Amino acid sequence: MSERILIKYAPEIFLKGLNRKIFEDRLMANIRGVLDGEDYKLIRDQLRWFIETEAGERVAQKVAKVFGVMEVDLVEETDANLDRIGDHLIQILTSYPKGTTFKVVTNRANKKFPLNSMEISRELGGILLNSTEGYSVDVRDPQVTLKVEIRSKAYIYKKKLEGAKGMPYGSNGSTMLMLSGGIDSPVAGYLMARRGVQVTGIYYHSHPYTSERAKDKVKELASILKASTGKFRLIIPSFTQIQMEIIEKCPEDELTIIMRRFMMRLACAAAAKYKIHSVTTGESVGQVASQTMESLVVSDAVADRPVFRPLVAMDKTDIMDIAHSIGTYETSILPYEDCCTIFVPKHPKTKPRLAEIEAHEAVLDIEALVRTSLDQAEVIDL
Ligand code: ATP
Ligand code: MG
Repeated sequence: MSERILIKYAPEIFLKGLNRKIFEDRLMANIRGVLDGEDYKLIRDQLRWFIETEAGERVAQKVAKVFGVMEVDLVEETDANLDRIGDHLIQILTSYPKGTTFKVVTNRANKKFPLNSMEISRELGGILLNSTEGYSVDVRDPQVTLKVEIRSKAYIYKKKLEGAKGMPYGSNGSTMLMLSGGIDSPVAGYLMARRGVQVTGIYYHSHPYTSERAKDKVKELASILKASTGKFRLIIPSFTQIQMEIIEKCPEDELTIIMRRFMMRLACAAAAKYKIHSVTTGESVGQVASQTMESLVVSDAVADRPVFRPLVAMDKTDIMDIAHSIGTYETSILPYEDCCTIFVPKHPKTKPRLAEIEAHEAVLDIEALVRTSLDQAEVIDL
C-alpha cells in the first residue's frame, strides 16, 4: 500500500480571506517544483492536501522544506476497522523499546462510525495492551502518542516533520539581496525568502584583490539558498574601479562609508534594471563601524527604494544559529577575503555626517561609475 503524506500549511495563508486561493496555488506550484522527478499524486481535497507516493519519507522531507508548509505527516491508510488499525498500531508501538508509555488519540471525522472517538481510543489501547508486552498506557504524559483519524478509511499517523513555515516563495514581491561571502547576508536572504519574497543576489567582486575562490564561495552560498527557492539569479558587478577611485580621491577614514554608499547605489540600480521592489542587506546595528546607526542612515540616503535588514536587531550568536540550521555556516566561514577586508581604513568614521560625505564623494563621477559597473556585470542563473 502506498503511503500518504498530509500537508498542513501555515495558518497565515488560511487567514488570507479572498486572496487565499492565490497563496494556495503558489504553494501548490512550489511543492510540485521540489517534487520534480518524483512519482507521486497530489490530491487537494478542499483544505486537506495530501500526496500518495511509494517514496514516503523522501518526498515528505522535500515537502517539509517548502516555505509556507507548517507540518508534514506521514500516514498509513487502512480500512476503518479496529482490528486492522490495531495491527498497524502494534507495529508502530513495538518499534519503540519496551517500557515505553503510550496513549491513543482518535479523531473521528466520520460520524457514522459506531463508536465515538474516546471509545475508539480505549478499544485500540486495549488491543495494544493485549497484544504486546512491556508497554503501558499513560494518558497524562505519554512518551508516544499514537494518532488515528477515522474517515471513510482510517489513517494512522506514523511520523511528523516540522515544516519550514513562512509564506509561499514568490508570493510577496521581490528584493535585491547584497550577498557577500560572510555569515550574515545568506541568513538575511533566507529570512526574506521564507516570507515569500523572491530573492535575487548581487555580489561585488574586486578582481584581482579578491580571488576567484571568494566568488565561488558566494556562488556556493547562492546555490544553498536555491535549494529553498527553486531558482536563484546572481548578479556580479566588478567593484574594483569604484574602490580604486575612492581610495585615490576620498579621505581615508571615509573609505568604508563611501564604499557602502556605492554598494547601495549599485543594488538600487540593479533592482531598477530588473524590476525588483526593494534591497536587503545582512547588516545588524552596531556590529561593525559601517553598521552604526549613523552609518546606516548615511548609506540609506542614496537608496531610492526600501532597504530591508532582517538581522538589524539580532545578536551574532543568534544569526550563527540560523546559519547552522539552514546549512550556510560551513561555507560562510571559509577564509577567502572579501572586498571590504582589503580596503579597511585604520580608523573608519563611526559617526559619518551626510553633508560631509556628500561633499567628499562629489569629486567622483558617481553616475558613470555605477553605470559602467552594472553594464559590465556578470549575470548567472543558478
Ligand atoms: P556578512 O557576514 O553578510 O558579510 P558582515 O558582518 O561581514 O556581513 P559587512 O562586511 O560590513 O558585514 O557587510 C554588511 C552587509 O553588506 C553584508 O551583510 C552584505 O549584505 C553587504 N555586503 C558586504 N560586502 C559585500 C559584497 N562584497 N557584495 C555584496 N554585498 C556585500
Ligand atoms: Mg562581510
